[in-house]
Amino acid sequence: MLDYWERRAKLLDSKREDQKREMMVPGEQVRLASLVEESIVDGPGMRFVLFTQGCPHRCPGCHNPQTHLKHGGRLYSLDQILSLYDQHTACQGITFSGGEPFLQGGPLAKIAEAIHARGGDVITYTGYRYERLKELAKEDEGILALLKETDLLIDGPYIQEKRSLEIPFVGSSNQRLIALTQRGLSLDQLAQFSEFRTT
Ligand code: SF4
Repeated sequence: MLDYWERRAKLLDSKREDQKREMMVPGEQVRLASLVEESIVDGPGMRFVLFTQGCPHRCPGCHNPQTHLKHGGRLYSLDQILSLYDQHTACQGITFSGGEPFLQGGPLAKIAEAIHARGGDVITYTGYRYERLKELAKEDEGILALLKETDLLIDGPYIQEKRSLEIPFVGSSNQRLIALTQRGLSLDQLAQFSEFRTT
């Protein structure tokens, strides 16, 4: 018998494939619900934040339901994003939030690579658990590419019953901050000592 996470993973896999097929995002563009040019609530330090459009997770109590539909939001070229980023020199890096960023792993990985080349760091939120992403990455180059370019991963679905006001930068206590690089380890340590608390 499948356990909860296996059943959830199977359901999400079919939704993810549907969304990826139907979004038809061209290679050098990303579909965003919105972007915030300077934020202090989406990871340690001042951050440039992309809220990606499209999410298969449908967490009850989600704070960003406008990001769920695959056809919403608008398309931005990678050059547009980087040009905006370059105007905000106070930003120490970029955060990909959502929506589900890993639906657009390929183009986001290219943006992340360009941010790294500029000396910035990369935080990626996901409704998937890290273990599941690693499995998916075996068959999905975009997911693999974005995992490789992510310094700090904040993973897991939002669970209303586990809503947390205590842990910095997460919505519910099941979500984890996972450092994927040395730089991510520094971000993780900064987050642990952050005065910021989610509201
Ligand atoms: S993963 Fe995030 S955006 Fe998607 S439904 Fe869950 S809380 Fe909302």
